[in-house]
Amino acid sequence: MSNSQEQETILQVSDLEKRFGGIVAVDGASFEVERGSITGLIGPNGAGKSTTFNLITGTHKPNAGTVLFNGQNITGKSPERIASKGLVRTFQIARELPEMTVLENMMLGPKNQLGESLWRSVMPGARRTVIEQEKEVRDRAWETLEFFEIDHLAEEYAGSLSGGQRKLLELARALLTDPDMLLLDEPMAGVNPSLEKKLLERIHDLQDEGYTFLLVEHDMDVIMNHCEHVIVMHQGRVLTEGDPEAIQSDEEVIDAYLGGEA
Ligand code: ADP
Ligand code: MG
Repeated sequence: MSNSQEQETILQVSDLEKRFGGIVAVDGASFEVERGSITGLIGPNGAGKSTTFNLITGTHKPNAGTVLFNGQNITGKSPERIASKGLVRTFQIARELPEMTVLENMMLGPKNQLGESLWRSVMPGARRTVIEQEKEVRDRAWETLEFFEIDHLAEEYAGSLSGGQRKLLELARALLTDPDMLLLDEPMAGVNPSLEKKLLERIHDLQDEGYTFLLVEHDMDVIMNHCEHVIVMHQGRVLTEGDPEAIQSDEEVIDAYLGGEA
């Protein structure tokens, strides 16, 4: 870290733009995320939230703008490169892999793209045999399942999990790469209240350990009670941002939501 500004800001998005044909999905979005925070990204459907996530994590390449992570320019880099620098998003458990067990899913890593950085992350330093490396990955996978209290499901088929258990598994897989920051797109969608509580507790535990979260979430109770900072997108831009109380009473925000369909 070269200065205190970089220490406080883990992610800096500047003038980000993405067009799909004639549609401007992201239209000059700029914002920062503070290290160690749980930051919410909200806005009506079509505001550009998911596209912004895709631009940040390398799934899509922006037409313009820059993304700095830990002070490094990661704009337009591949998802693998970005993940190896410590920035990951959760991926839905692939539909085509329902007949793999939970533990096998963990060993594979989120899509193959993260599997690779997972394996790389256990390699540095001492030379280890493939068997030793595999044991280390397995141990770490197991500990992570225990942390999310889904270790009892290790031998179940991933396809048999409930919506909430699946979300826990998605987060567990993302964590295996030892990231600094996680982007979660609608983590509470389809999650029953007791698992939602567990998921939020784990997110706060991880925040206590120093992880940073940026989450898109439609449940305003989650946003208002669990985020310390909220960024509001509308029509591809940041409409406003602030702490939850300020956002909740902001006339522009209320208008944007009423104008949209959320
Ligand atoms: P949000 O997540 O806030 O609901 P999105 O980022 O998914 O919004 O979408 C923003 C806009 O970009 C929408 O008009 C959407 O239809 C469009 N869009 C998103 N992805 C694509 C794509 N791959 N191709 C074409 N249009 C897209
Ligand atoms: Mg979306």
